Amino acid sequence: MKAFLLRQTNYRDADRIVTLLTAESGRLDVKIPRARASRKRFGGLDLFVLANVVLETRGAPRLKEAAPLRSFDGIRLDVVRLGLASYAAELAATAAQADHPAPDLFRLTEAAFDSLDVADAEFDVGGLGWARGFELKLLHVLGVRPSLRQCAACGEPAGAPVGWSVSAGGVLSGDCRQEDRLTQSVSPAVIARLDEALRRPLKEQGAVAWARGEHREARSMMRTFVGEHVGIRERALAFLDQMVPLLLVGLVFVLSGCPSYVPPEDVRLQGWLLNTPTPPEDGTLEALTVSGATADAYSDNGTLLVEGANPFADFANYWRFDPLPPETAVHVVFGPPEAAEDEVDYVTTVLSGRTALEDLFVDDGTFHLWSRADATNWVAQWRAVTDPTIPGPTFDPELEGEGGIAYGQVSNAADYEGYRIVVRDGAGLDRGAFYTDDEGAPIEGEGLSAEGTFVVLGLSPGPAEIIVGRPDGSTLERSFATRVEEDGVTSLVGFAIVD
Ligand SMILES: [Zn+2]
Repeated sequence: MKAFLLRQTNYRDADRIVTLLTAESGRLDVKIPRARASRKRFGGLDLFVLANVVLETRGAPRLKEAAPLRSFDGIRLDVVRLGLASYAAELAATAAQADHPAPDLFRLTEAAFDSLDVADAEFDVGGLGWARGFELKLLHVLGVRPSLRQCAACGEPAGAPVGWSVSAGGVLSGDCRQEDRLTQSVSPAVIARLDEALRRPLKEQGAVAWARGEHREARSMMRTFVGEHVGIRERALAFLDQMVPLLLVGLVFVLSGCPSYVPPEDVRLQGWLLNTPTPPEDGTLEALTVSGATADAYSDNGTLLVEGANPFADFANYWRFDPLPPETAVHVVFGPPEAAEDEVDYVTTVLSGRTALEDLFVDDGTFHLWSRADATNWVAQWRAVTDPTIPGPTFDPELEGEGGIAYGQVSNAADYEGYRIVVRDGAGLDRGAFYTDDEGAPIEGEGLSAEGTFVVLGLSPGPAEIIVGRPDGSTLERSFATRVEEDGVTSLVGFAIVD
């Protein structure tokens, strides 16, 4: 298992406790018995090192072996980079949950160390601006990215005067500033700079044109926001506070000759195409993949954005859609394999969602292509136990109209038990979801179970909006976009609710 070492503390006389970050299991706090005596075995394991680790999981977790894969040595060539990397490591360690997969956080941490690992000691990483970029990308990965371009209360494009509200989730503009009595007045220039820091890759933070006076304001804004969402980080702040005098001495920003900012376009969506809606968690995924399908990515209004490709010779049924425009709802439509051996009819599957920004990572996905027989059986079961009067899919090209299904699983459902999913379909009708228990069986329940699975039947084709309701009957301000294909199955697996 690949792991970053984020923290280490000596324990008793010879032992050491280390905090590891892994993609599979999130944060792991493990003991290295006799660490100082066994330099040979663990000598290469240090801060800012990516290592292959083997754990002894019987009893309290202990580190058995560690083989360094990459040491980001360039970080230590410069005291500012060392401070930034330490800050990033502390924040990542604080944000990571124990025993909870964290692939995005892992990749962000890797991108962070990589961006600071440069051979040139004079290389401009952007100093405190880099810290803001990292904080924003971390908040994005955690699903709590602050709204910077739109007013967090009304969704309109933010215009001066602007305020900053942690509880509202970012910028408040105009009269909306009154929504939160703790709204902090901020300058639009600082908001613009933060927006650029968010969108620029960490490697390019040196090109963000921060003006001298803007850092203090940005720092205070982000301090409250990160404090609220990531948690207490006194230890992390200590690294940055030590850096401030160093940065003020060396802070020279080149304002002329800077290339004008070009929004990134290289957004990527990728994943396996499977023939089952319930992929197993063990390593047998490849046996369930579908060969010979076609796939294209469309925008909300049906414009072809990009044709899918299979980029890996070794993983024939792994799809990639690239490049996609940032911050756009993307719908992937799969066509059935051209020469399906058993002449099975397949149901077109749509996966939709909002793509992330360059180096903010789109999750590796799982897409599904079902045989019509499977889909028909599955829907019949659902209708029998839920509501037989709801139109099911016809899968008959002669019949028009209702019939689309949306099914899915909310990835952070344990935090949103009892919340309700409603889909407003292309005909403007609201249809409530049915939910399952942790065994996947339909339940009578009035909201999401901790499992988070749900299905919505009888949807008209076209763009659709997914509305999430709280148990008290109010609805979340944020909704999710999708698109329902006629007699299709829309897969919504793996999206997170952000309240
Ligand atoms: Zn507003």
